[in-house]
Amino acid sequence: MTDMIDPFGRHVTYLRVSVTDRCDFRCSYCMSENMTFLPKKDLLSLEELDRLCTTFIRKGVKKIRLTGGEPLVRRGIINLFRDLSRHLDTGELEELTLTTNGSQLDKFAKDLAACGVRRINVSLDTLDAGKFRELTRRGDLNKVMKGLDAASAAGLAVKINMVALRKFNEHSINDMITWCGQRGFDLTMIETMPMGEMDFHRGDQYLPLSEVRSNLEKDWSLRDIPLKTGGPASYCEIAETGQKIGFITPLSHNFCESCNRVRLTCTGTLYMCLGQDDAADLRAPLRDSEADELLEEAVDKAIARKPKGHDFIIDRENGGPAVMRHMSVTGG
Ligand code: SAM
Ligand code: SF4
Repeated sequence: MTDMIDPFGRHVTYLRVSVTDRCDFRCSYCMSENMTFLPKKDLLSLEELDRLCTTFIRKGVKKIRLTGGEPLVRRGIINLFRDLSRHLDTGELEELTLTTNGSQLDKFAKDLAACGVRRINVSLDTLDAGKFRELTRRGDLNKVMKGLDAASAAGLAVKINMVALRKFNEHSINDMITWCGQRGFDLTMIETMPMGEMDFHRGDQYLPLSEVRSNLEKDWSLRDIPLKTGGPASYCEIAETGQKIGFITPLSHNFCESCNRVRLTCTGTLYMCLGQDDAADLRAPLRDSEADELLEEAVDKAIARKPKGHDFIIDRENGGPAVMRHMSVTGG
């Protein structure tokens, strides 16, 4: 069994799996109001997702993140977590985690902890219930807060992902930092990425993190810290609180050279780069044979064409997307 090393010498050790394209929210930067979701028959079963993940683990993946859409709205999802946790027990897999909007966490936090999940990412862009409802078009902030309480009670470490949005939350980032500090949550700021057609001009929402950072520097002392996760975030520490803040700036190329990840969709399509349209179908080789040779061959061929980097750019003239699929297809 060969590990996955791409043409640029990067080891692929991190798999993100979008287990559903569906969601109970419709965040304005992620989905349009009227989304057409995949017919249920097109989805891989949880058993098939387990077989795919297990193949990737055999080929060197050490970390798996389930995402979506909203991973916790997929029926029976805890069974997939439970099945995958056997690889944590053997030590082959080092981390099993998820990114969630938090709406179902009060129901699932305990089970997730029992499946070996230790840290979770929860997306939260505002602490104002009215604005939260407006942005998510249907979310209930109170429910997310209950979910976060349940996560803390279950011993899960939480990182909040906050998308920086011009005019929407640019003046409440300080409040979010203070609140995260009180709750013991890490915080990562994310720039909007031009993915999928939207109901409005994307440039209107785009708030560069360089601007966020210089605004924060008026109130806090920020110190860069050399934390390398192989991911797109750069980190700094707030001297006053000792808190860590991550900044994900997808429009800059600074993270592609250390990229260690690939993304799998719920239909078995493998994207070798978040910002490129090239993809490989793993569903056919998965279903064509009960043995895993065909699948492994298809994975090797896909990794051999992992691109050097992405081509994201927000086109300020027409606000169109750089890639046509929505973020909910690959889960970010
Ligand atoms: N539903 C889950 C959630 O919201 O955490 C998981 C899937 S969601 C697609 C994963 C992350 O992508 C979230 O943190 C969300 O804020 C972010 N996201 C979605 N669309 C985005 C976009 N166009 N630009 C930047 N981040 C985006
Ligand atoms: Fe759903 Fe997450 Fe997209 Fe919001 S960001 S619509 S919660 S998938």
